[in-house]
Amino acid sequence: MKEIRFEHVKKSYGNTEVVKDLNFTIREGERLILLGPSGCGKSTTLRMIAGLEDITEGSLFMNGKKMNDVPSGKRNAAMVFQNYALYPHMTLKQNIIYGLKVQKLSKEEIQSRLDFVLDMLQLKGLEDRLPKDLSGGQRQRVALARATVKRSDFFLLDEPLSNLDAQLRVSARKELLKIHDMFKQTMVYVTHDQIEAMTFADRIALMYNGELQMLDTPTNVYHRPANVFTAKFIGSPPTNILEMNYHEKSISIGQQSFELNEIWLKHIKQRNTSDLLFGIRPEHVELSTASFSNGYRGKVKYTENLGSNYSVYIDLDGQEVVAASDHKHWYKGDTVYFRPMMDRIHFFHKGTGNSIGYPEELLDADYKNKEESRVLA
Ligand code: ADP
Ligand code: MG
Repeated sequence: MKEIRFEHVKKSYGNTEVVKDLNFTIREGERLILLGPSGCGKSTTLRMIAGLEDITEGSLFMNGKKMNDVPSGKRNAAMVFQNYALYPHMTLKQNIIYGLKVQKLSKEEIQSRLDFVLDMLQLKGLEDRLPKDLSGGQRQRVALARATVKRSDFFLLDEPLSNLDAQLRVSARKELLKIHDMFKQTMVYVTHDQIEAMTFADRIALMYNGELQMLDTPTNVYHRPANVFTAKFIGSPPTNILEMNYHEKSISIGQQSFELNEIWLKHIKQRNTSDLLFGIRPEHVELSTASFSNGYRGKVKYTENLGSNYSVYIDLDGQEVVAASDHKHWYKGDTVYFRPMMDRIHFFHKGTGNSIGYPEELLDADYKNKEESRVLA
């Protein structure tokens, strides 16, 4: 099994623990995205898989074998770094096949793998150029090509596209999907970019402060965030997290109350807690100039133009709520009525920040634990 398993894996530099007790399995053949803000321990985690960092405590298994003391070169893993790390004095072709020569593959095999990858990554005709005579995008593709020709069981990538402009990044991602589709390697891909993670992942492992926050499909990470951190990190603008009070049949935010449906009331009652935070995504709020029977009234603070829509920032009895709107006709000081969609609201424990979960009845076919299968265009 080409899976990767962490068992209580920790990493410290001196007295500082930068990766804290990782316990999870990366499945054979999946695209696992390690996501999180800068400094949260993504690269350290990836480098432990690659064998470039010692593991301070715990065990790492690959292919069912404990890897803690197995040298990097014996882990059947190819790695792509953010800064390409091409050999400057070698041509494009020499850079790509260097590793294969070290592996002592036959001339024919090397040539056939080279032809294949030059074709796939559109590098034909550039074989004899030095890295300095290539564009950034081309160099990036050479780095991908060099890792791809190895056809290793594990493909590890650390922010491999972050030096490319937005357009090149999209096309490079397509190439990576093609590569993955063809070789079905177990792919671990580090990024701090939530859009990249949402569009590319089979599953996302979201990290913060050296700890795993949530590991699930992009759909579940978006619709069923495990905690406040996840709810706020995924989505832009982030999920609104609001102070609230829980009453028997309703909740109140500021001075205004909002009646919950039976399903939610039952669910919250079962959780036996009332110290809660309320969560709602900007895109799951309805706005109107007329009042709703079960909604809130606020004042517009300002709006932001995002091109495809507008973000309307609203003052709700002293708390700020942001809502997405198709219309720009919201101006500072306007009274605005808004209503959270009942099947898109979230509740979190105030103390821990953890989700109180969701009533089963609310799970619709759209995202009921569905494993997404992504098809190449
Ligand atoms: P990320 O890739 O998520 O941005 P890293 O894994 O590179 O984060 O780093 C995690 C933390 O470990 C950071 O706080 C970083 O400063 C620290 N760190 C990384 N390498 C070293 C090192 N060699 N010595 C001490 N601290 C380190
Ligand atoms: Mg990093």
